[in-house]
This record gives sequence, structure tokens and C-alpha cells, in this order.
Amino acid sequence: MSSAGLVDQYLLHRLTGQIERRQLSSTYLFTGPESEKNKQLAIAFAQALNCPRTERPEALPCGCTVCRRIEAGVHPDVMWYGTDEESNAIKISQVREFRSLLALKPFEGKVKVFIFNGAERLSSEAQNALLKSLEEPPRGNAIVLLVPQANVLFDTVVSRALEIKVPPFKTEEIRNILVEEGAAEKESEFLARMAQGKLARAREALQEGWFHTKNQWLDSLVKNPIAFLDQFGESSRGHISVVLAFLLEWLRDVLVFEVSGESEFLVHADRIRLIESYAERYPFDSVLELFERIEEIRKALRDYGNQKLALTQTQILWGKVVGNDPPPFILKKPDGGG
Ligand SMILES: [Zn+2]
Repeated sequence: MSSAGLVDQYLLHRLTGQIERRQLSSTYLFTGPESEKNKQLAIAFAQALNCPRTERPEALPCGCTVCRRIEAGVHPDVMWYGTDEESNAIKISQVREFRSLLALKPFEGKVKVFIFNGAERLSSEAQNALLKSLEEPPRGNAIVLLVPQANVLFDTVVSRALEIKVPPFKTEEIRNILVEEGAAEKESEFLARMAQGKLARAREALQEGWFHTKNQWLDSLVKNPIAFLDQFGESSRGHISVVLAFLLEWLRDVLVFEVSGESEFLVHADRIRLIESYAERYPFDSVLELFERIEEIRKALRDYGNQKLALTQTQILWGKVVGNDPPPFILKKPDGGG
């Protein structure tokens, strides 16, 4: 898939409008929860600033050598820092290198673009060093800081930058990207709903085969909740936390359906018939009680970390509130998921 599909076209138009009107700011802060979307917007902005052929956003990337090299991260005037996302710091030495390059003219292009990916990883020392350059950067430079939200940086840094808020992906956009990348429609639809605007999360879940696992879990849960939970007796704390999150997500769907009667906001919309059966069988208040108590167990697990206790408590609770027997509806109403 072309990465152009990841670029927020509205924001790109706004940025290129500034280029046309020569109202460019020297420092930009791209804020948004989806780091990939922030990065793609930074690439498109660098292309708009340097492409020799076009400044029209809808024509970018135009396919010229400059656009292609910027996309590949090998253009000498577009410098990236913090590309190693495993590393939890952007080193002060990188900020020093940036400061020395700032004074130079562009090597080939029109504007030098410095992109700090995951700029929240700049230490206090590095932010202070950066700040000196942001006060009066030489012309012909654009500095772009990519962060999840503005408050992760010093106010003094933020106040010198123009913030561009990059919205998370819409459910539909994530679904379309996954389908374009070859995933099945039904699976893509579920993963997009589950990921809540985070493409990376949806892709990771796709890799892990989470759609199939969660459907097996659901089938097993409705047949026999005690046996379902028993299989995690030796699981790690992290894994129990995943199981609890799964139960909460499922109960949330039942609650949403009981209130709205619609599938639009459900995560497990692929199991709509099962959700309907749950909603028919269990009163709203029982499901809500179960939801709230499991939420408490999950918090206690996070704070005190006894996974076996958390699992036992969940089993007792589930048995008490919704019962342990296989409900008759799973025999009557197979919903074909899974
Ligand atoms: Zn181009």
C-alpha cells in the first residue's frame, strides 16, 4: 500500500497553504496518538517543501527522485532523529549534531527539514539544548517535533512551535488499510473496531491472530466460564491482565447493546447474535455489576500483582452473577462466528 493513504489530506493542505502564502513557522509540533500518521504527515510536508515539480498536496508524492528519496529516508536535506523506537532516549549528541547542521545551507533541496520522531524521549538536557536553536533558527529550516501530545515537552519548547493536531485513524480507515494489505474483511472490521484509532495496535493483533483467538475464547467462555478461566491457572500476570481486558471488552459490548440496541459501537460486532442472546438473558444491572467488579480486580492485579487471586475472584464472581452453566441460547442460536 502506498503510504500516501496514511497522510491526513486536510492537514497537508493546511501546511502547503502556509508554504504558498510564505507563512511558514520555523518549528512545528505534530501531536497525535498515532505515531505512524504523524510520521507520514512529516514526510509529506518535507516533500511539499522540497519537491521541484509540485507544491499541490493532492499531487504528492509526485514520484520524482526527490519525493522518492524523502520517502525512503535518504534525502540529505531531510534529517531524522529518534528513528530507533526501541531506544528510550534521543541523545544529546544528536541534538548537538542538529544544531551544527542548522547553520548550513540546504545541500540539494529548498528547505532543510529536521524531524524528531518520538520527541518526548528528549531528556531535559536535550530539550534545553534544542530550545536555544528554536529561539532564532536560521532561515531555510523547518523543525518538526512528533509527539503523542504537547504536554510531554517543556512549555518553553511548545510555545515556540506551531501545533498541528493529527487525529487518530477512523475505524473505517484502519479497516480499509488492513483490507488493502490483504487481511480478510470480517477480521479487518473487528481489528479496526478494537484498535480505537491505533493502526499499530490493529496490525500487531493481526500478526498475533487475535481475531481467531478471541472467537475461540468467546466460544469457550459461553460454554463454560469456569473451565475457560481454569486454563489460565498458570499464566503470567501480564497474560491474566489480557484475559481480564478481554472480559471487560466483551461485557462492555453487552452493556452498550443493552442501552443502544445497535451494533455500530460494538467491538465484537461479528458476534452480534451472541451479544443479543446475552442481552436477552442477563439484566443490565447484573452485567454492569460484573463489569465494575472485574474492573476492580484488574486494578488490584496491576497494583498488587497476585494473578492467581485475581483469576479465582473472577471465577467466583462470574459464577455468582451470570452462572456457570452453558446458557441454552448457545445451543439454539449458533451465530456462525469463530
Ligand atoms: Zn516530487
